[in-house]
Amino acid sequence: MNATRVLVIGGAGYIGSHVVKALLDKKCAVTVYDNLSTGQRCNLFAAARFIEGDILDIAKLNAIMAEGFDAVVHLAAKKAVGESMVNPQFYAQNNLNGSINIFNAMVDNGVKNVVFSSTAAVYGMPQYLPLDESHPLNPMSFYGYTKAEIERVMTWFARLKDFNFVALRYFNAVGYAADGSIRGKEKNPQNLLPIVMEVLSGKRPKMQVFGNDYDTPDGTCLRDYVHVEDLARAHVAAIEKLLSEPKSHIINLSTGKGTSVLDIINAAERVSGKKVNYEFAPRRAGDPATVIASNDLAREVLGWTPQYTDIDEIVKTTWNLEEK
Ligand code: UDP
Repeated sequence: MNATRVLVIGGAGYIGSHVVKALLDKKCAVTVYDNLSTGQRCNLFAAARFIEGDILDIAKLNAIMAEGFDAVVHLAAKKAVGESMVNPQFYAQNNLNGSINIFNAMVDNGVKNVVFSSTAAVYGMPQYLPLDESHPLNPMSFYGYTKAEIERVMTWFARLKDFNFVALRYFNAVGYAADGSIRGKEKNPQNLLPIVMEVLSGKRPKMQVFGNDYDTPDGTCLRDYVHVEDLARAHVAAIEKLLSEPKSHIINLSTGKGTSVLDIINAAERVSGKKVNYEFAPRRAGDPATVIASNDLAREVLGWTPQYTDIDEIVKTTWNLEEK
């Protein structure tokens, strides 16, 4: 992919920075566009050009898009499920309008290919397992709705314009670059593994496990945890696919394997050699017992399979950040 020009919007964020790393490893010419609202300067790579900018700034988006790119990776979004239910206006503005601004700037400037970060949250409560891409979309949060809606907008743009996309529906993203090159921890994390890490490092006194009476082997929820470096590789494969064959796809990125909340806690205890201070608490509203997804399409279309399969190994890449 030598010198392939890629614009990574949201490239200073958790997943975005790993995508930038994977693209740089493939010798792409990378430009990062990020407003640093949740993205962090410490996630930027010297080898990638950085432009501080907002996806609501149409003039700036047009100016950058006019430079011409082989592909865009769009990861810029607000992603707090709870917040999206309290302040949907903000999510409508940022996620929906911001995405439309990007796609319009692409079409107006002849940029044809985009890889979009979508989410398992588009599915809502599973009607069958494993989830596949033709499962009905029934998001249970405004956040999930914005992602499903953006997929629809892209589907129409692909029909009407010289525009191709790959939407990647991430399941539970976890871990950090194993070489320690990305160190930006999310502030006020809402997800399980970063919370476990904060308990282990003493930043939080204890944590709650939401529900231990689910119909699962140990009574706690099963999720499909995918390592962020595996996610990042899928973006590279998606760009390669778009460049070789201009066709659009919507694809799950998952392992197909369920890991429970207690499995994660036990792995964190093994890896760190410390005890996690937790208590069982009532179920969290809206949590399905099990979320597991098929990755057959990712394998078929992108030739992608997750390389991280061992949960201890995955947790270790996160724990590494705490130790230094
Ligand atoms: N979870 C938990 N305690 C926490 C945070 C999360 O027990 O402090 C559980 C949550 O109920 C779910 C799993 O961990 O079963 C993964 O939750 P997360 O919010 O990370 O991702 P989700 O699957 O909800 O997108």
